[in-house]
Amino acid sequence: MCVIRTENLCKTYKGGTQALCGLDLEVRAGEVFGFLGPNGAGKSTTIELLLNFIRPTTGTASLFGRPAANPRTRQRLGYLPESVNLHAYYSGRGLLEFYAGLLGIERADRRRRAEELLERVGLRDAAGRKISQYSKGMQQRLGLAQALINDPELLILDEPTSNLDPVARRDFRDILLELKAAGTTVFICSHILSEVESVCDRVAILQQGELKRAGTLEELSGSAGATVTVKHLPAGAIEALSATEARLTLRGGESTIACDSQAVLQDVERVLEEWGVEVEQVETRMQSLEEIFFGAIDRERVS
Ligand code: ADP
Repeated sequence: MCVIRTENLCKTYKGGTQALCGLDLEVRAGEVFGFLGPNGAGKSTTIELLLNFIRPTTGTASLFGRPAANPRTRQRLGYLPESVNLHAYYSGRGLLEFYAGLLGIERADRRRRAEELLERVGLRDAAGRKISQYSKGMQQRLGLAQALINDPELLILDEPTSNLDPVARRDFRDILLELKAAGTTVFICSHILSEVESVCDRVAILQQGELKRAGTLEELSGSAGATVTVKHLPAGAIEALSATEARLTLRGGESTIACDSQAVLQDVERVLEEWGVEVEQVETRMQSLEEIFFGAIDRERVS
């Protein structure tokens, strides 16, 4: 089942900025989906369209198989904006109880729900303190608790950890992994590629309103080179390999030839074949998300 689907989604703002052109996206139930792109790529515009804060110029966005404009979709999703703006005069517990009340949760259950969420985001000890005394990281965690108050099937996160220190960032990732294990679908916009790499099942890379790539890391990753191990290298092969960009390490009975790209690997394979060298092992290295990202975007067009 597709939790999010966009078809030919386009948004041109008043004034003529074309923020999104023909976005086709599918996010499946239970997956953690990373939505990436440089500044101005159209990520926030996409989120605002999904949340029905703005209307598309053309195309459609649907959540749970219903148009994004359908109010019933809102009950099934949670949203954490990039900068949370919480009512500072509440305590953490008070705020969550207030929102639980807005959602129609019975009075008796509000406190229990608030405590459960405060525990989950690591704010139990600060539950009674005023939000004005919370650090940015604590406010972000409380924002997440608020986004989870209706036990959403879909959680939309916009740059959730940009204000967090490394410790809080790791805690945040652990919470995401717990949500994922519980089957929540998560749509996460982030600049922090290593973070996306560690939690996301699939990613999409957007630039200037156009979808550049989408898929699992395995699908998107090309080979980033390889290390070839051989037993015996004749002198002529060593000489020929030295003329390539490969890095040769000669050891007693065994030698390794490190190739930093697919092109270098091809050069090496050609030499080895010419000299009839028997290959023991070829260990290929997959690309990191950072390599995939920079391979997908046109750096000249980064605004
Ligand atoms: P991202 O979130 O990836 O940084 P945005 O969706 O915020 O990208 O912006 C995409 C493009 O749309 C940018 O060129 C931005 O300047 C423009 N844009 C965003 N919001 C508005 C708006 N309300 N009015 C006019 N242009 C906008």
